[in-house]
Amino acid sequence: MFVLYREKFRFNELNNNKMKKLGCPQCVIHRFFVKNDKGESIVVVVSDDYKIIPIHESDNLEGFDLTILYCLGCSWSGSVKSLTGGKHKKKY
Ligand SMILES: [Zn+2]
Repeated sequence: MFVLYREKFRFNELNNNKMKKLGCPQCVIHRFFVKNDKGESIVVVVSDDYKIIPIHESDNLEGFDLTILYCLGCSWSGSVKSLTGGKHKKKY
């Protein structure tokens, strides 16, 4: 329970600051995961200046492949540059 509460708090923290997050070009979700060569994955969000930020404070991005993001909401995967932000018009 404590952990869940903490995660929720952290997530709210991310939501509350003015940082804009980029979304999946397919399903517009703002959460992704990245993988390392051990097959581990961590959940991240991407700010509109293409910074990859782990949702869990304790996570370390070291050793993770940040060139490919995997969407949590659909089967999309790709680079941060192909994410959609608030400034861009939707193509569909
Ligand atoms: Zn998606």
